[in-house]
Amino acid sequence: MALVYSTETGRMCPDCRKPLADCVCKSTAKAKPAGDGNIKVSRESKGRGGKTVTLVRGLPLDADALAALGKQLRSACGSGGTVKDGVVEIQGDHCERVMAELVKQGYKPKRVGG
Ligand SMILES: [Zn+2]
Repeated sequence: MALVYSTETGRMCPDCRKPLADCVCKSTAKAKPAGDGNIKVSRESKGRGGKTVTLVRGLPLDADALAALGKQLRSACGSGGTVKDGVVEIQGDHCERVMAELVKQGYKPKRVGG
């Protein structure tokens, strides 16, 4: 079979052999844990219009697992929130509840900040 140069697909990724636009290598890299396992739970209200949020940093989980855990923590706290840049954010001051929930799941969170 003759090799045909295609201007439509353009350059191919040498690793996954897909067009660069569809390269799956990047998303695989993205799935690496965001945290180092040094889990820190903190409460912050800076720059949030006085609204307090509980933050969990350093969870050694990939994006999907982090999203799932974030959901569990939110429901444990009965509160809303998001997962952003590897940080779980829960609306309100729920440090104690979040700490307890993390410990229950086998993590060793540290309470940091005020
Ligand atoms: Zn690739």
